[in-house]
Amino acid sequence: MPLGDGTRAVHAGLPAPVPGRPFLPGPVPAAPYHLDPVAGPQPGVDGYGRTDNSTYRALETAIGQLEGGECVVFASGMAAVTAVLLTTLRSGDTVVLPSDGYYLTRVFAAEHLPERGVTVLTAPTSGPYPAFDDVRLLLLETPSNPGLDVCDLAGLAAAVHARGGLVAVDNTTPTPLGQRPLDHGADVSVASGTKALTGHSDLLLGYVCTRDPQLAATIRTWRARTGAVPGPFEAWLAHRSLGTLDLRLSRQSANASAVSDVLAGHPAVRSVRWPGRPEDPAYGLARRQMRRVPGVVTFTLADKAAVDRFLDASELVFAATSFGGLHTSADRRAQWGDNAPEGLVRFSCGIEDTADLVADLRRALDAARA
Ligand SMILES: *Cc1c(COP(=O)(O)O)cnc(C)c1O
Repeated sequence: MPLGDGTRAVHAGLPAPVPGRPFLPGPVPAAPYHLDPVAGPQPGVDGYGRTDNSTYRALETAIGQLEGGECVVFASGMAAVTAVLLTTLRSGDTVVLPSDGYYLTRVFAAEHLPERGVTVLTAPTSGPYPAFDDVRLLLLETPSNPGLDVCDLAGLAAAVHARGGLVAVDNTTPTPLGQRPLDHGADVSVASGTKALTGHSDLLLGYVCTRDPQLAATIRTWRARTGAVPGPFEAWLAHRSLGTLDLRLSRQSANASAVSDVLAGHPAVRSVRWPGRPEDPAYGLARRQMRRVPGVVTFTLADKAAVDRFLDASELVFAATSFGGLHTSADRRAQWGDNAPEGLVRFSCGIEDTADLVADLRRALDAARA
């Protein structure tokens, strides 16, 4: 019988038990390691920290098990996303990015890809998509951030593969317990581990997963050349945090369900998106494709002033960007230059008690309306 998510998360990447050793060995901070003074560098023996580190390897084993592919960890989500773009795209290629996805991916592409001869197209997550004839790479983000639209991974992957292109999926918002893009035909799952994957709002991390050994090797070499490695302590902390991933996601998702119901019934709220609501346009697709729905809910209040009143009145919701952490937080996306309506809030449910969160939310929404 396949193991459940909680079991897989707790055991992911742990070494075999050795009496007297910890369950998860501590971080190995090393720039150089001892070399054999006579034989010099040897295959399989760690030599230098930018390429070799047992703490990264353990974390890569863990994430690779959850995603179902080979994993390469990076210093941040952006280090991972840019590694995918810059290793797969050549002059003359075309890339399609989500027009409604994580905005810095688009910003990076606009700043750096055209001058390298790459044509950058965008498409909304829910479509329509351009013809894939000349597309080298389709990058998808589902659910998209912050709009929470969902796209059909298997269908799009088949269409792109038929024309010889690659498909990468930004899996940050769902995490590998919420969605396994490689199982749906994607060539690459790329993500920020800064968000729900590690969930404690105390580190930056990124990763790339793939089942293509050639691509994994290319990405690993890219990381070694650019030096975009995480710190060993961050990598260890991330691995330690993975053990509670299933528990955290379960509570976040339960909170999001309750929160989206309150939002949908409140007169201060103009619109709500959460793919776990049967009324949501993405519900059917999310049910087929996702293993669980994340704790992020996006809603719109009248304007900036209404969001200000909402945040001021709330006692439990932290004003903060990022999402997926233990603490419920809200981010008015327009303040980041993310092309969003002034009153749009990305609301990230933490793991507080649902009743407390709902009571606080009601109070804050009433104040937003006043
Ligand atoms: C945050 C985020 C990133 C970038 O990750 P960092 O760890 O902040 O570099 C990429 N994609 C999505 C969907 C994100 O939410």
